[in-house]
Amino acid sequence: MPRVAVLMADSGGGHRSAAISLVEALEGAAHGLFVNLLDEYAPFPFNRLSGLYGPLVNRAPRLYHAIYQASASRRRIAFLEAAAYPWVQSRIAAALAAEQPDLVISVHPIQNSIPLRSLRSAGSRAPFITVVTDPVTPPAAWFCPGVDLCVVATDAARRVALAAGMDPARVEVIGLPVRRAFAAVRGRPKPAARAALGLAPERPLVLLTGGGAGIGRLPNLARTIARRLAQAQIPAQMVIIAGHNQPLQQHLQAEPWPLPVTVLGFVDAMADWLSAADLLITKAGPGTLAEAACVGVPVLVTGFIPGQETGNVTWVESSGMGLFADQPEQAAALVAEWFTPGNPTLARLAAHAAAAAQPAAAERIVRAALDLLADRPTL
Ligand code: UDP
Repeated sequence: MPRVAVLMADSGGGHRSAAISLVEALEGAAHGLFVNLLDEYAPFPFNRLSGLYGPLVNRAPRLYHAIYQASASRRRIAFLEAAAYPWVQSRIAAALAAEQPDLVISVHPIQNSIPLRSLRSAGSRAPFITVVTDPVTPPAAWFCPGVDLCVVATDAARRVALAAGMDPARVEVIGLPVRRAFAAVRGRPKPAARAALGLAPERPLVLLTGGGAGIGRLPNLARTIARRLAQAQIPAQMVIIAGHNQPLQQHLQAEPWPLPVTVLGFVDAMADWLSAADLLITKAGPGTLAEAACVGVPVLVTGFIPGQETGNVTWVESSGMGLFADQPEQAAALVAEWFTPGNPTLARLAAHAAAAAQPAAAERIVRAALDLLADRPTL
């Protein structure tokens, strides 16, 4: 079986989730290998970038946005990559040589040009594919003209790719890959899903998350929503997922809540928690939004990382699967209105969410990748 290196990193949670979905879809046809060049092989300071991502976006969003804008053109990215190449090349080349991939799929914006150049310098003809996990407004860093195929999720992202100089023949719109557990829980009755998680089966569930890094103003938001639901005497319950943000988890666990609230750290079984929820409240993380669509859960977006997540808000609203409300009071008013018995909004949003889902995206991407390999055997 061919060896397929899936290049990912732990900046946020979305790249790892995308990598898992592709490795799952490769099962039976290829050996899928998780390769985290950035965190595990690149030298200092590059190996610290992923760890800085959460704190930077959370605590210094303006600084993050300034860095984002400073690197927003393909020309500047190419300059940075050329400057970094001599510094990182030997370790990246050694890591790739150890894996001996027949095919490479990158799901990370800064693991394209340098690994591709390293592979080609070492004589490898392995097809190289980028799967862009920002579905609407992807940063220029994603687009490396030398890749064999660049998969994007929407026509809007394709336009960004072409504006960044990509060859139109090598940019394909397929979708955002989602782990198979999310398709598996579609249509599961919510009371049973809640009971399986130890939650009150008949109490409607509001699920709050801030992505893999627990980003956003979750405490104030959660407090305001809980207070409003309690005041309106709506017998709901809340689950708050703080991801890898342990201080946030501890902070939330110490809060007195006016209704049943479960606070969790990073959960592996996100599909189970989503399938139990009547509403997801989140920042505009692409993986989380695609998963909610897959499970048919409406979304209230309360924040976004300026730049790569800006377009995701439009995507949610235009698909009809949810709304955007960045003020806690405004979000809480909407939640209380939607959970008022007899209000039809959540059912309508849920239907639109299910219609926006692309549960087979990972399989389709893998098929396109393996077709490329079949056209250019390297074994
Ligand atoms: N996630 C998870 N467990 C958690 C929190 C998040 O599995 O406790 C996953 C979530 O299901 C999604 C990813 O982490 O697949 C978050 O990706 P997204 O693109 O939404 O945001 P990011 O964290 O990359 O900013």
